[in-house]
Amino acid sequence: MMYKSTRGYSAEYSFSDAVLTGIAPDGGLFVPVKFPRFDSLEFAELCGMDYCSLAIEIFSKFVTDFTKAELERCVRNAYAGGSFPQDPAPVVSLSSSLNVLELWHGPTSAFKDMALQILPEFLSVAIKKSEQHRKVAILTATSGDTGKAALAGFQDAEDVKLLVFYPENGVSEMQKRQMVTQEGRNLSVIAVRGNFDDTQTGVKNIFTDAAFAETLKERGYTLSSANSINIGRLLPQIVYYFYAYLSLVGKRRISAGSKINFVVPTGNFGNILACYYAEKMGLPVNRIICATNDNNVVSDFMATGVYNSKRPFIQTISPAMDILVSSNLERLLYEASGNDAQSVAADQEDLKASGVYSVDKKTINNINQSFWSSYASQEECRATIKNVYQEFHYLIDPHTAVGIDVYDKYVISTGDTAPSVAVSTASPFKFNKTVAEAIFGPEAISGRNEFEILEDLSAKTGQTIPAPLRDLDRKPILHNKVCEVSGMKAAVDAFLQ
Ligand SMILES: *Cc1c(COP(=O)(O)O)cnc(C)c1O
Repeated sequence: MMYKSTRGYSAEYSFSDAVLTGIAPDGGLFVPVKFPRFDSLEFAELCGMDYCSLAIEIFSKFVTDFTKAELERCVRNAYAGGSFPQDPAPVVSLSSSLNVLELWHGPTSAFKDMALQILPEFLSVAIKKSEQHRKVAILTATSGDTGKAALAGFQDAEDVKLLVFYPENGVSEMQKRQMVTQEGRNLSVIAVRGNFDDTQTGVKNIFTDAAFAETLKERGYTLSSANSINIGRLLPQIVYYFYAYLSLVGKRRISAGSKINFVVPTGNFGNILACYYAEKMGLPVNRIICATNDNNVVSDFMATGVYNSKRPFIQTISPAMDILVSSNLERLLYEASGNDAQSVAADQEDLKASGVYSVDKKTINNINQSFWSSYASQEECRATIKNVYQEFHYLIDPHTAVGIDVYDKYVISTGDTAPSVAVSTASPFKFNKTVAEAIFGPEAISGRNEFEILEDLSAKTGQTIPAPLRDLDRKPILHNKVCEVSGMKAAVDAFLQ
């Protein structure tokens, strides 16, 4: 399988080269030149497979420049090496129609582990295959979840160094503690005196500094990023959509071949795009329900065909979805426009120049055949956390709550009660303050820090705190560097000496 740019750049890339390069030279994103399809016979053979076997089957269609042995090693190191429980992605049934796919059983208790545990494995193999053996230096600006998931994924990875920048006062106590206690010989974590935008801009400036890139090249380093535009982060997310479907078949909640809905809390559009890719590969999907929070650019786009990022940024209780420019949407536009790279490139130019673009009728109609979208306010999100707990004695985090609220809206609006899977993207204990307040009221959190609330939430609900979040406040702090935005480049320089 080869990969090409969404914006029409002529060369095709192997999987290894696409993963190492990250972004195409014309600024486009790498997409598979065509989608492999499982016919019904092949699909039947997938039933009953464990997560690793299923992942190997799916990757063997996409990662064709790896040997079977290399692929198997990548998959087993990622999902069977002790970072995940035996079932990495359990499906919990709440009602006859609503099921929850829990994607937060990895080392950082958020769904980004599903991809960031295997990306370093892919990268290590790709480095060995590349013509000049190089080392890769990964820089990441994080508003919370990505940084920790990348640190856990790249810990002690061969030939890779990782530097995470986070805004000094822009992440939660838990998230900060998760990052600054991270062990690993090849890692560094630095707080930046600024907000997330400053931090991200600082990283982008380093990426586009050609002279600095040359200096690093002389030292044997190529700069790369671990964010969700890398195709090596996207493909692993396809696996769990098949896995969830097959789990429901295995439990006889659906019959093989019947269509189901998926509900996905959406930010940068990576997770939900993988669901769309799964559908293109033959997974029986009725509707992909796209749930956004108050930053509802994507819902508005799906309703109107106009993408308008020129609006106030709203800081919400589902921070991982607080995004106004949803990068992976570009890959959907490419497919839905019938691979019209020229129009995709023009749209992205418009976005850059004016913050707005619009697509033609045919494209938006195509999108609406697969997708349905709406958003949840913060108040609705809090009410959903409380209702789901009261009705099912089940705890959900604020991102998952956005999904379930929008699912309820979907059922009311369409009357469709077909079996559905809501994708759960973070452990409720990771956002314990919001969850405890939503269920037990403001007095449950007043005067308490997040570590106290964590214990309290567990005691009140009888649910176990995930191991990665337990005892976090007692772990030694290993990273305490702080820098100004203007000092970020010097920090990278020092780290890569
Ligand atoms: C990153 C993240 C999301 C958004 O996923 P995208 O792939 O960016 O759409 C949703 N929920 C949580 C908890 C996340 O960490």
